[in-house]
Amino acid sequence: MSWTFYTIVCLSGSHIATRLMFVFCMKEDVANLIAPLMLRPITRWPFFAFLGGAMFCLLASSTCHLLSCHSERLTYIMLRLDYAGIAALISTSFYPPVYYSFMCNPFFCNLYLGFITLLGVATILVSLLPVFQNPEFRTIRASLFLGMGLSGVAPILHKLILFWHQPEAHHTTGYEVLMGVFYGIGALIYATRIPERWMPGKFDIAGHSHQLFHVLVVAGAYTHYQAGLVYLKWRDLEGCRGN
Ligand SMILES: [Zn+2]
Repeated sequence: MSWTFYTIVCLSGSHIATRLMFVFCMKEDVANLIAPLMLRPITRWPFFAFLGGAMFCLLASSTCHLLSCHSERLTYIMLRLDYAGIAALISTSFYPPVYYSFMCNPFFCNLYLGFITLLGVATILVSLLPVFQNPEFRTIRASLFLGMGLSGVAPILHKLILFWHQPEAHHTTGYEVLMGVFYGIGALIYATRIPERWMPGKFDIAGHSHQLFHVLVVAGAYTHYQAGLVYLKWRDLEGCRGN
């Protein structure tokens, strides 16, 4: 019950209930007073790393699509930056779930964080280096993006095993599955060039695979942001209890 509800009950309570309500009111007041003292917020850097990755992705994408009409050369450079931004977003997306799930277990925390960072750096390099831009590397580039998405499966399953009793673990996994679906469909659309392959020239202005890819990436990032908020609330309240 909310503080407001208690206040209303306190103000309008009958004589019979007055004492009981007074106790409830006291309890609520005391809880409100001591809660901030008991609450020890945990570090925010993994959450900020994710927000930084998301902002870099959106900035790179906006810059790319704003300037790419300048010349063929600039289009080439800007598109590389666009994919590098998406790689940065996907890899930093794993920082909050991995860190807040395994913050009390440094070995797995460092293992998963190190792996996703390496995969992220590899994908950014493959996106930026001209040698990987030939058509024969298209499948490899798409596979790296897909691999980054799939690399989240191990820490998420591990989290579910460790915290099966914890409602937050199920809640965040729901968001993570949804995020995986968005990123997965995005990678598939990017690799298969749907729908313009069916009707070339009809989707040059709207509905192009690259546009769908961006919409899905933003949807995935937003889902992940919601999961991040659940993790923060959980760890702020409970710290390492139950680990
Ligand atoms: Zn783009």
